[in-house]
Amino acid sequence: MAVNEAAYKQLKDFLIKQNVALVAVSKTKPVDDIKALYDLGQRDFGENYVQEITEKHGSLPEDIRWHFIGHLQTNKVKYIAPFVYMIHGIDSLKLLKEVNKQALKCNRIISVLLQVHIAKEETKFGLDENELMELLGQKHDLHNVEIKGLMGMASFTSDDKAVRQEFRYLTSIYDRLLSPPFTLPLTTLSMGMSGDYRIAIEEGSTLVRVGSLLFGTRS
Ligand SMILES: *Cc1c(COP(=O)(O)O)cnc(C)c1O
Repeated sequence: MAVNEAAYKQLKDFLIKQNVALVAVSKTKPVDDIKALYDLGQRDFGENYVQEITEKHGSLPEDIRWHFIGHLQTNKVKYIAPFVYMIHGIDSLKLLKEVNKQALKCNRIISVLLQVHIAKEETKFGLDENELMELLGQKHDLHNVEIKGLMGMASFTSDDKAVRQEFRYLTSIYDRLLSPPFTLPLTTLSMGMSGDYRIAIEEGSTLVRVGSLLFGTRS
């Protein structure tokens, strides 16, 4: 049930050398586990559920940067808008507009990532390449959101080659957005989890979202 501190230190050392950021994915894990990593210096934590992230935010130190990495329903944006640091899973203009609206109400600018569907599985959320370009063409006048980059999840498979291909594809889209005619100030390519973060980094990830490697498997 305890946090794997040795794994955390090892991972941190590795990521610092690679200049890659870490979001520690603490979904379903108790606040004591988050506090243990916090005490080792970790400040970025990721959660998938609105109620859980809101409760944890209320009972943990104020300087934690909370990343919402799950599928976000439009009607729940208002609960996390006052404190969330980054939303990774924006997959429609409707959701982006709602984040902008709620951020404005809180007098905040919220950082977001657009989620791209790269896996073979039907169940993973995200935009395809055409939908992504369409959304980027339509996002006028949203002054309270800042699009910082892309997020993607590879297929859940032991076929490393397939996973690598999917990450490579996402990186190719990200690279395109970094060049003209695009003028987005992008900083973040969020890809890689416990099982595939090494491949993701080799393929250009700038931020990994790691849970079970640090907190143990989830029931
Ligand atoms: C749960 C989750 C993770 C972490 O997965 P692990 O395999 O436990 O590292 C990363 N990203 C998203 C979107 C998740 O839902």
